[in-house]
Amino acid sequence: MSKKVGLHWFRKDLRIQDNLSLSELASQVDQLVCVYVYQEEEKDQNSISALVNKEIIGKHRRNFINQTLQDLNNTLGALGHRLIVISLESQEPIDVIQDLVKTLNITHLSAEWHCGFNEQSQWQKTADSVSALVPNIKFIQANSSTLFNASKFPFSIENMPSTFSPFRKKVEKYCKVELVNNPLTSIPPMPNLFAFEHSINLDTLTVQSNHYEKLSGGETAAKQQLAHYLWSTDNIGRYKDTRNGLDGWDFSSKFSAWLALGCISPRQIYAELDRYESERIKNESTYWLFFELLWREFFHWHHYVHGLRLFAASGVQQIMRSTNFDPNTFVEWQNGQTGYPIVDACMRQLLHTGFMSNRGRQLVASCFVHELGQDWRYGATYFEYQLIDFDVASNWGNWQYLGGVGADPRGHRQFNLQKQTDIYDPNNEFITQWLN
Ligand code: FAD
Repeated sequence: MSKKVGLHWFRKDLRIQDNLSLSELASQVDQLVCVYVYQEEEKDQNSISALVNKEIIGKHRRNFINQTLQDLNNTLGALGHRLIVISLESQEPIDVIQDLVKTLNITHLSAEWHCGFNEQSQWQKTADSVSALVPNIKFIQANSSTLFNASKFPFSIENMPSTFSPFRKKVEKYCKVELVNNPLTSIPPMPNLFAFEHSINLDTLTVQSNHYEKLSGGETAAKQQLAHYLWSTDNIGRYKDTRNGLDGWDFSSKFSAWLALGCISPRQIYAELDRYESERIKNESTYWLFFELLWREFFHWHHYVHGLRLFAASGVQQIMRSTNFDPNTFVEWQNGQTGYPIVDACMRQLLHTGFMSNRGRQLVASCFVHELGQDWRYGATYFEYQLIDFDVASNWGNWQYLGGVGADPRGHRQFNLQKQTDIYDPNNEFITQWLN
């Protein structure tokens, strides 16, 4: 009987543990190949992105991705494998996958489910073209990127609540977080004599440490941060009081970047939180981390339901607000030169580190839309370029919300920048640090 050969296409699931598609594939094949398609993502010059920067991915996120790929390769190495990283030149990812399927006689193809419109359509197009080539190929797609699966919600996903609070209340009442998958301790071997002309040598990727030195890509660092934030420091037990901080490592969990690339799954965080609550302490703060993960959950399903509407000027509400765009104002905002000290400090922090606190993100977005009167989509696009933790659903969902066209029942909220400074930076320490 001929061998079953599986190909796992890593996209935003850059981990081995609690990766349902990978473990499902591993259980069904005799040999396995792990692939990542490395995209520089030169963009369409007519899009908003072209006005923002040359590439979609800025240097901080690129660095984090490179670290993550090296870590994944090391983890695979311990299982007798390696990560095949194919760099795109003129082709599309779909062409790369097609070529691999043909060359390696792939019988099973898997990739993680992701809520993103582009991720969904990329998978669909690839599956269509591959099945035209190999009609009997088996596809595996599972979801371990969210806390729940849509089939478990007490509503049909098309009719999910349009705002966060009713969504949260229903989910808290009727849903249980899915269990974490059993640890993956072995995977089928790679095919013999496996070589790839165009595969990148991961040691040649540039990596540097981040301003926040623990912010390093990969499943290994993600697990370390989970242990640090919960068990080593007990910071989790103070989260509700500290979470509105503006700078530093310990005021919030910093899980976002690892979640965005799938170095850790939200269920793994939940499982550890649950264990912490039963073994150490359960309080408002431990609950609040779950509450914030539900915001992520909400935006992921909200994007899944609304698709391309997430990127439309009029948003999911289909209300037209300002569509102004002034390139000089935009550059001043990016460089932290608006004249609003709290906004400028946050924007310089972002430029320098690739990170900004949740409080900061709300303030700079509100300023962009209200004080500066700019079209929210330009702000969202710049964040997409600059943020290490860029997550399509959370970024565009939050920007729509602040742009007054998204999932906000209270409408077009504007923050009072002076009041916010008095509350969150009363001694001007943050401002002084970033403006000097
Ligand atoms: P914590 O406070 O420790 O929260 C724990 C986790 O809960 C986060 O890691 C995140 O997964 C989730 N979470 C918390 N707040 C939110 C929120 N408002 N929306 C969705 N999920 C949330 N988050 C991203 O992960 N990627 C983005 O691209 C992104 N863009 C944003 C853009 C704007 C304009 C705003 C206002 C918020 C954005 N957020 C985004 C949400 C939030 O600011 C970050 O998740 C958070 O600051 C990351 O730091 P943390 O992991 O320490 O968060």
